[in-house]
Amino acid sequence: MTRFIDTHAHLCDEAYAPSEVGDIIGRAAEAGVGIIIHPDIDSRERDAMFAVCGEWPGVVFPMLGLYPGSVDKGWEKEIEKLEAYKDRDIVAIGEIGLDYHWSKEFASAQKAALQVQLEMASAMNLPVNIHLRDATEDFFEVLSACRHLGLRGNLHAFSGSYETFCRLQDFGQWKVGIGGVVTYKNSHLPEAVRRIPLESIMLETDAPYLPPTPHRGERNEPSMIPLIAAKIAEIKEVDIDEVAAVTTASATALFNLPS
Ligand SMILES: [Zn+2]
Repeated sequence: MTRFIDTHAHLCDEAYAPSEVGDIIGRAAEAGVGIIIHPDIDSRERDAMFAVCGEWPGVVFPMLGLYPGSVDKGWEKEIEKLEAYKDRDIVAIGEIGLDYHWSKEFASAQKAALQVQLEMASAMNLPVNIHLRDATEDFFEVLSACRHLGLRGNLHAFSGSYETFCRLQDFGQWKVGIGGVVTYKNSHLPEAVRRIPLESIMLETDAPYLPPTPHRGERNEPSMIPLIAAKIAEIKEVDIDEVAAVTTASATALFNLPS
């Protein structure tokens, strides 16, 4: 079993040249990160993502979904395009969710797209990977409307409070993805991480974004996962091996990965 799993990294982001992906995966393996889960964004990047996953079977696993930042007036067509990929070996529906940070112009479309994709996840018996930014109340409204679907999943790049985590548990055993933000000076996240059970935490880089200290300002990549794990170990006063074992077991179970 791999030591660490990066549950959210964008290897097809334009920050990386396609020719660099092999080296990035090599550096990750050297750091003990043997599995990387790749979020889907939209139809512009999807074929590149499946190509990378096809080139690295058993290492890079794809999600399928329409990212909230890509929801605009053409969103229903984008949802239709997901159909052609449903029979692939995908491990989650994601990243899907709500993001009102830059604009609320498409808020109602984002909510509709989220609900349709939550229904898709339930029908396909897959977990969901949620992107949530500045839209907590609307997210819980949609999740309440979908309570009958018996969903499971995680909130990626979690930066919320312990109270938000507890609210989430009312909808089943939801996990949170913790990344580089937990290492930032002045971050409130360590306080929440201290109280959230280790069994509910999964590791992620969100690479190329949000690099952990001391790499802020640089390009993030999956090989930086041990820095995040070390910080969580320090906060929870446990050994890093325990953080590795517990988070890897959680991710393996949630995404039904080979162990
Ligand atoms: Zn992402």
